[in-house]
Amino acid sequence: MKTAEILNKEKLTREDLLYLMNIENPEDINLIYEKAYEIKEREIGKKVFYRGLIEFSNNCIKDCSYCGIRKSSKNVERFFMSKEDILESAKWIYENNYGSLVLQSGERQDEEFTAFVEDVVKEIKNLSQGKLGITLSLGEQSKETYKRWFDAGAHRYLLRVETSNEELYKKIHPQDKKHDFDVRIRCLEDLRNTGYQVGTGVMIGLPGQTSEDLVEDILFYEKMDVDMIGMGPYIISDETPMGEEYRDKIMSKEKRVTLGLKMIALSRIYLKDINIAATTALQGLDPLGREKGLKAGANVLMPVTTKGEHRAKYQLYNDKPCIDDTAEQCKGCLAGRVKSVGDEIAYGEWGDSPHYIKRKSRS
Ligand code: SAH
Ligand code: SF4
Repeated sequence: MKTAEILNKEKLTREDLLYLMNIENPEDINLIYEKAYEIKEREIGKKVFYRGLIEFSNNCIKDCSYCGIRKSSKNVERFFMSKEDILESAKWIYENNYGSLVLQSGERQDEEFTAFVEDVVKEIKNLSQGKLGITLSLGEQSKETYKRWFDAGAHRYLLRVETSNEELYKKIHPQDKKHDFDVRIRCLEDLRNTGYQVGTGVMIGLPGQTSEDLVEDILFYEKMDVDMIGMGPYIISDETPMGEEYRDKIMSKEKRVTLGLKMIALSRIYLKDINIAATTALQGLDPLGREKGLKAGANVLMPVTTKGEHRAKYQLYNDKPCIDDTAEQCKGCLAGRVKSVGDEIAYGEWGDSPHYIKRKSRS
């Protein structure tokens, strides 16, 4: 009864969010998902926006303690896709009418990399006559670099805060200047000031993370006034410091999936008109993870379009799904999944969040 009452409120409080985050009985959890789906339908429609994901390199200068491609990982075969290969994937995404793509890689901050990305962004704009939307997910950069890439034609940027709890952030990153919480926040602010639509997100089910932390994460999204959210469960990556320490101590897969879905649903209920992705990591823990994500209020999918030979090498965590599939297979598979939920793929649309469109029209 109390759950239904809270869900009918126009604006939830921190206490309400915490109450809902801690609910364990399946019937009440379903009420949360249903409310979230209802709000998605009202604010966005039964639409799913696609972003073709090109993971073009696993070279990284960082050493995030959870990530399989961190600099110190020895057993990773490093790769860097050629410009031609990236453009070929971009062309495929364009021709298959996905509307928008994401370029993601490990982090590099050298001039060669900056200029490469700048050039690739321009070329993608050219090959699609400006029609393909471009999102970048290339980590922390200087304000100048963000500006160069923006001027080249990128208009959205994803940079997860990973957790808004600074103490927890410190625990999951090395203690050095390269992994500084304040820099991450500064980057999110720089991105907004540069003109990007900004996306952030967290990992869910991190060792030591509490329900209070997750509620604070949702309030952080509100405070930063973000346009989009990409978040998913934390998944063990074997040869990482956290993988070794927590392999047998981590919350069960089922619990992490439920918590991930609750985070999607509560973010939708609380923030209403933003874009929220159902991420691959959800499917990594549950074969139906992405469908469940859409049912819990997500409206964005990021089909991997990275070429087969590189897919397996871009492993941020164990058992990444779909590594043997081609872009074609992913397309067919996902279309079936979206249909099974009762949603429709918004082919050919950039799919900016109503939240961003409203803010833009005010300025
Ligand atoms: N280097 C860029 C983009 C690639 S990493 C960056 O860090 O922003 C993209 C995301 O993968 C990270 O933000 C992190 O949230 C997620 N990730 C990394 N390792 C993970 C793991 N073991 N489980 C779940 N997500 C992980
Ligand atoms: Fe590099 Fe991103 Fe992985 Fe951190 S999360 S090690 S920055 S690829």
